[in-house]
Amino acid sequence: MKITRSAFLRNTALGLCAAGILSACGGGTTENTDTETVGDGSSDVWTVGSEAGFPPFEFVGDDGELDGFDIDLFKAIGEKSGKTIEFENLPFDSLIPALQGGTIDAAISGMTITEEREETVDFSDPYFDAGLAIAVQESTTDINSLDDLEGKRIAVQIGTTGADTANSVPNAEVTTFENAPLALQELANGNVDAVINDAPATLDAIATGNIPSITVVGELLTEESYGIAMPDGSENVEIVNTALAEIKADGTYAELYRKWFDAEPPAE
Ligand code: GLN
Repeated sequence: MKITRSAFLRNTALGLCAAGILSACGGGTTENTDTETVGDGSSDVWTVGSEAGFPPFEFVGDDGELDGFDIDLFKAIGEKSGKTIEFENLPFDSLIPALQGGTIDAAISGMTITEEREETVDFSDPYFDAGLAIAVQESTTDINSLDDLEGKRIAVQIGTTGADTANSVPNAEVTTFENAPLALQELANGNVDAVINDAPATLDAIATGNIPSITVVGELLTEESYGIAMPDGSENVEIVNTALAEIKADGTYAELYRKWFDAEPPAE
């Protein structure tokens, strides 16, 4: 079975929690002083990290600014919660250390909510449902499942759930790249047999023609939900969740989904 972009979009359930969270959010307190540090949740300016090599969620636009679904979503969160958002383009595997070190207030980067990550950071409610898919060259006929990848050469993005999955394949030769497009290009160049990456990002690379002659095969390997990561114990979690619920309820989420995925958001 081949996964098409539209089938993926039709079949994914929207993970965004629409239930309004009406408990006190504390977001109205604006009497801040300039002694506050990044990451403590009390500043009116939030520095938000993202690895901008993951279209259509985040990428560097023609004007040099970060753009994409996640970027628009966080801008909307900033508007709802009265925060000024400054984005910082960081390597994916340095986002969690940056949250832990307090140099960023939040990270939005197509980041899957995992138990392992939850040990070190807090996540918002899920805002997008995704899953891993295997990509191969169009001419490949012998790879249709994870089992078929045994002993094969697999390219992945460093620090991702795709990398974890690839590392679980017996005898596979796993090569890591800074971002997903570089891994997919390695596949297009014929230097690896497959890429394990988030389906929506791979399907976008195929649909936009950014990476030629590759295709997605088999079933989705995982069901994953993206969340916004914040420092452990951050009081911003509640502010972000309240804003997310509002964005969902007032149609902003649907508007952004249509803009970036050219499809209706999945029914809840
Ligand atoms: N969703 C995957 C993860 O969280 C990949 C994210 C990404 O490449 N930006 O590991």
